[in-house]
Amino acid sequence: MSKIRTRIAPSPTGFLHLGTARTALYSWAYARHFGGEFVLRIEDTDVARSTQDSVDQILQSMRWLGLDYDEGPIYQMQRLERYKQVLDQLIAEGKAYYCYSTPEELDAVREAKKARGEKALYDGRWRPAPGKTLPPVPEGVKPVIRFCNPPDGDVTWDDLVKGPITISNREIDDLIIARTDGIPTYNFAVVVDDWDMGITHVFRGDEHINNTPWQINIFRALGAPLPQFGHCPVILGDDGQKLSKRRGAVSVTAYEEGGYLPEAMLNYLARLGWSHGDDELFTREQLVSWFDGTHLNKSPAQWDPAKLLWVNGQYIKQADNQRLAALTAQQLAKLGVTLDATAAEQHLPRVCALLKDRCETTVALAQWAARFYADVTPDAAELAQHVTDAVRPAVALLAEKLSSCTWDKASIAAVLKDVLAAHGLKMPQLAMPVRVLVMGTAQTPSLDVVLELCGREKVLARLAKC
Ligand code: GLU
Repeated sequence: MSKIRTRIAPSPTGFLHLGTARTALYSWAYARHFGGEFVLRIEDTDVARSTQDSVDQILQSMRWLGLDYDEGPIYQMQRLERYKQVLDQLIAEGKAYYCYSTPEELDAVREAKKARGEKALYDGRWRPAPGKTLPPVPEGVKPVIRFCNPPDGDVTWDDLVKGPITISNREIDDLIIARTDGIPTYNFAVVVDDWDMGITHVFRGDEHINNTPWQINIFRALGAPLPQFGHCPVILGDDGQKLSKRRGAVSVTAYEEGGYLPEAMLNYLARLGWSHGDDELFTREQLVSWFDGTHLNKSPAQWDPAKLLWVNGQYIKQADNQRLAALTAQQLAKLGVTLDATAAEQHLPRVCALLKDRCETTVALAQWAARFYADVTPDAAELAQHVTDAVRPAVALLAEKLSSCTWDKASIAAVLKDVLAAHGLKMPQLAMPVRVLVMGTAQTPSLDVVLELCGREKVLARLAKC
């Protein structure tokens, strides 16, 4: 058996869409599972819509997700010579032909067919046939190249995801494989590439199912070996419609910026459309060892932001504090909070360790951690509820004792106890107002640690506002 080679072939007309990221992930995991190779190809033949910015974003998202490729990025626009060579060959062999029909003529044919209740396919007017006289070549019209699709019979393949699929050749027409400017169309370039690059398995979105019969026919016309195809269903938004920009974030970049961890994203994306028993959380290594192309769902999966958040939270909890601190520092900077090197390297990891059980993204971590570094504005309602005249003297005593005690968790805990005893209070009666004053919220982790990490100076300044 030849070496397994898979690929992902995004068009650089925007960011890396979650759906494409998922098929990239499946292609990558499949290659890794079987000790094969994974190729990245940039399908940039739509010159008007392809941009370098988009290529950069795609590469960044692949890097972020850790989808390392063995070859590429290979750019289709750098392979035009090769496509031309194959086009010439097909024409020479009578398997493709120049078509001079103008858009107006084609429209007219389509309308007439529709009016007769027929499928609006190309009428084959320029298709050569034994004994057929072709129309005279019109002057000044640049031709497209069409592929001689077999007029009859069926195209059948056993889809890795959907099972056997059959589409009749009567349903499809002679596809345009090169435009008037000579640039090949997707369905042609993709075949030449998959052939040249030795691709054995193609995973892609099921919006391409209708393209596959054409591609299979072109593979056959070229005498090229057929890869196996696996068409993954679309990802739906919570309204049951295809996930799209209007329905929330659909780019990998948005999740990177939104404080998600790449391993959580990888886990969630893999599980969305594939399963390994009841496993919800798994490592990259487990995915690779389990992913053999089976157990891919035939029906669409629904994007579930709450579940993704939960998955991310699980990974945040386990993440190394130093790493979390580095990511949180980036998010803090976006909030306008910059830390000096000592704070970033020594203090912030401790803050992250304290908060990571309650924050599901590094954005949430940063929002929380900011209370340790920037001014806090306590919620007015919480202030009124907890910081009452009855408790002010106790807060004042606490401030006094904190101004001179040893600054560590145990000493701070002892001071809190002393103040409770002196004023006959229960812990919440003192802790709540102190939390609101120091952290701006009554919901905080253990108060002694919070105070210790906040630092004496800040704690005293904030308590003084009592
Ligand atoms: N450029 C195509 C896309 O982004 C690739 C489809 C394929 O994998 O064949 O949809």
